[in-house]
Amino acid sequence: MKISILTLFPEMFKGFFSESIIKRAIKAGKVEVEMINFRDFSTRKHQQVDDTTYGGGAGMVLAVEPIYRALQSIPDIESAVKILLTPQGEPYHQERANTLAQADHIVLVCGHYEGFDDRIRNFIDLEISIGDYVLTGGEIPAMAIVDSVIRLLPGVLTNSDSYTQDSFYDGMLEYPQYTKPYDFMGYKVPDVLISGNHQEIDKWRRNEAEKRTRERRPDLLEKPNKKH
Ligand code: SAM
Repeated sequence: MKISILTLFPEMFKGFFSESIIKRAIKAGKVEVEMINFRDFSTRKHQQVDDTTYGGGAGMVLAVEPIYRALQSIPDIESAVKILLTPQGEPYHQERANTLAQADHIVLVCGHYEGFDDRIRNFIDLEISIGDYVLTGGEIPAMAIVDSVIRLLPGVLTNSDSYTQDSFYDGMLEYPQYTKPYDFMGYKVPDVLISGNHQEIDKWRRNEAEKRTRERRPDLLEKPNKKH
């Protein structure tokens, strides 16, 4: 898979790409990441990329041409999935991550300042929001999407950190997990987990996952496409 990120702040991604599972995935060639600074595609004085808004109002808006030109500089742009990060987009969820992980190439466009000229929407395929709150830019949303997609790519997670037990994978939250010590300040690990009876452990985990989902996210159990 290839991921292209259009941003004015490529430096923000340096730490993100140089640690842990994401670093490993890039190094192993599971994913290729390309950073594109759309300031490089500005033809205005001082490589300006933003301007005041027509009709008046506070703040600066990103102009459409540098983003359009940056998109056009990508050789296979027609077949790539072009995503705009915006609080006005489709709320991001695991099912969308699963679909994106099947793509050959995804392109993420990070807004900044007051947002972008609305006409950029004519050149993208999908708008994604990572939640009902407003961030200063699309860089953190892009990282959230990239992280959630890369961990699904074949061979990125080892068996020990497989995603099939994770929350949302089967439409439910994950069951509670414990590690040593057995007794921490009187809080003990449930006995079934040290019983060695794997059938009972599986049953307990299924029940706990369902109980937790019912308590915290009953909406997930109502979804028509749930797997459980
Ligand atoms: N004026 C815009 C609005 O009200 O829709 C918000 C602009 S926001 C300050 C700047 C940029 O951050 C956006 O263009 C978008 O790329 C990104 N952004 C902020 N919050 C986001 C969210 N919840 N999900 C995805 N992107 C977000």
